[in-house]
Amino acid sequence: MGRITGPVCRLCRRDGLKLFLKGSRCDTPKCALERRASPPGMVQKRRSKPTDYGLRLREKQKVKHYYGVLERQFRTYFSRAERGKGNTGETLMQLLERRLDNVVHRLGFASSRAAARQAVMHGHITVNGRRLDVPSYLVKAGDLIRVKNRARSLQLVHAALADARRDVPDFLSRVEGAIPEGRVDRLPAADDISIPVQANLIIELCSK
Ligand code: SF4
Repeated sequence: MGRITGPVCRLCRRDGLKLFLKGSRCDTPKCALERRASPPGMVQKRRSKPTDYGLRLREKQKVKHYYGVLERQFRTYFSRAERGKGNTGETLMQLLERRLDNVVHRLGFASSRAAARQAVMHGHITVNGRRLDVPSYLVKAGDLIRVKNRARSLQLVHAALADARRDVPDFLSRVEGAIPEGRVDRLPAADDISIPVQANLIIELCSK
């Protein structure tokens, strides 16, 4: 049987890194990375060594795909990080990690960032008691993220929670009641970023 590998799986395979871009499939043996061992007799192609530019570009693409942001949005985050007081790379990653769709996913309310984005846009999520349908909203410490008290919303989130096997990161806490909710206990720090990335390479690329 042939392997099922979409474009996003190719990104994981290129970097040899699970980027969890396909929701619950990523946690199963169907994950393209788990199945990548070549069948007997097949020879792996050797890739030429990437250039410095190629390495930097690869890190940037990895981050853009991971958080599901387009170039223009990425540039906006970068400019904001550059204007900040701290380390530009860390600030950039913190801004991306604070996106509402990412937080909804990391709370386990959706199986992937793409599903989380859709859940937010379809009004299944409230922030501090108000419906908020903007996936790029940047959460703040103390924000309360709740599933809307509506049958369809609860059904979707409970299904995702039943599948969620990853722990909630330290900067968030989750209460799994009849109406699941999560709280942003503090802003994410470098240790909370779930993707191994060399942010300094991205900064070098974007600063030019
Ligand atoms: Fe594909 Fe997910 Fe596995 Fe990556 S982690 S290869 S996106 S199934």
